[in-house]
Amino acid sequence: MSISENLKQIIQELPSHVSLVAVSKTKPLADLKMAYQTGQRIFGENKIQEMTQKWEALPKDISWHMIGNVQTNKIKYMAPYVSLVHGIDRIKVLQELNKEAAKNNRVIEGLLQVHIAEEETKFGFSSDEILALIDQLKTFKNVHIKGLMGMASFTENKEQVQSEFKSLKKLYNQCIFKGCGFNTLSMGMSGDYKLAIKEGSTLIRVGSKIFGERN
Ligand SMILES: *Cc1c(COP(=O)(O)O)cnc(C)c1O
Repeated sequence: MSISENLKQIIQELPSHVSLVAVSKTKPLADLKMAYQTGQRIFGENKIQEMTQKWEALPKDISWHMIGNVQTNKIKYMAPYVSLVHGIDRIKVLQELNKEAAKNNRVIEGLLQVHIAEEETKFGFSSDEILALIDQLKTFKNVHIKGLMGMASFTENKEQVQSEFKSLKKLYNQCIFKGCGFNTLSMGMSGDYKLAIKEGSTLIRVGSKIFGERN
């Protein structure tokens, strides 16, 4: 199926409270243009330089989401335009993002990345760190944290993925209970987004199911 058909099929099935990030990392501009022509306006990339090149080349009504883990020395390149940073996984990123956003007279929206997977290699804060951090978020005047993001383990075991999504949703609810005003829960990718939606996701990040496998 074509990019356009893939997109339409996914969007058709999405509940109205769930938004789609089209993950276009490694894909050529022509593929993004195809998705744009189909109506897609949110694109996700995991490398700041690649995202910046695409931002320069494509229409300016696109919202760019940084979904990868962030190299702090490159934040300055995306600070003028990035719309949502999903992968805030350590204090250093929050501090640098705040600094660069201020230089651009912007308030940049972000999500705190939570480590929910079993693998050591996935990035993010622990639940306890999140609960401790949310009281301090107000001190970062130029970053607006509006929710959480997580990546489940890379496994065929659906029960495990489901329980990881459940734990993230539970933490999200705890944050809301503490009055932090969150409205965005970013979880779910090509292989598990339906499950993620069932478990409370409001923002899914789908790449290969739209654009095909990456090399
Ligand atoms: C690549 C990536 C995705 C999309 O993965 P697919 O399996 O191709 O849908 C989602 N989230 C993050 C953080 C990614 O790096």
